[in-house]
Amino acid sequence: MRKKIVAGNWKMNLNFDEGQKLTTEIVNMYKDENIKDVTVVLNPPFVHLFPVKKLVGNTPNLFLGGQNCSDKASGAFTGETSATMLKSFGAEYVIIGHSERREYFKESNELLTAKVKQALENGLTPIFCCGEPLEIREAGTHEDYVKNQLTESLFGLSDEDFAKIVIAYEPIWAIGTGKTASSDQAQEMHKALRDHLAGKYGQEAADNTSILYGGSCNPGNAKDIFSKADVDGGLIGGASLKSRDFVDIIKSF
Ligand code: 13P
Repeated sequence: MRKKIVAGNWKMNLNFDEGQKLTTEIVNMYKDENIKDVTVVLNPPFVHLFPVKKLVGNTPNLFLGGQNCSDKASGAFTGETSATMLKSFGAEYVIIGHSERREYFKESNELLTAKVKQALENGLTPIFCCGEPLEIREAGTHEDYVKNQLTESLFGLSDEDFAKIVIAYEPIWAIGTGKTASSDQAQEMHKALRDHLAGKYGQEAADNTSILYGGSCNPGNAKDIFSKADVDGGLIGGASLKSRDFVDIIKSF
């Protein structure tokens, strides 16, 4: 049985006080509203990890993740943060290959393979992002484009390592635009990706892989999107910065 996961990607938002306030509200709502059976991951900027972890404590099913990690283990790489540091500061997950990192920081499929390996070697669960830009969607080649992202970055992994991966499908044209993919478009892509994974790792492994949807998810559309057979949760940007919205999305299963 694959996990249902809702992850909040704060991106480069919130100062210390704002991060503490948001986390406190989420933890309180999470406990008061008796949320069960959903794995929740908060992905704040690195500097928030430790203080946010203190607030989250051992709340069941509530975890922390980074938004990125280095492809290197350690050393003279100014400004980088390693997977082993993330783990030691309380993270269990790490987002890898977000489209903003691919675009603005020129992260290639090959580099992302090295990041995934660093994450796995340090006991972090990678949330591996994929997704097509608008022109690829309009050209009708989106399925091949996204399948290729998975092939190039992940298909060198052993069966055992692959079993630890979470996938997030985030169509770039839906990120931060308010223009979400329809639930049918999400389902169609998620099914295509699951079939692609099955072709490489077998049906059972593919069936056990959580595939999250990301892109303008909000409390108004999450129920419809999460109701689809191959959608196992969401990677939430803007709406994860508002405690009520984020918790309502978690409760949309
Ligand atoms: P929005 O929910 O703000 O569209 O962002 C999605 C995203 O990029 C999450 O990683």
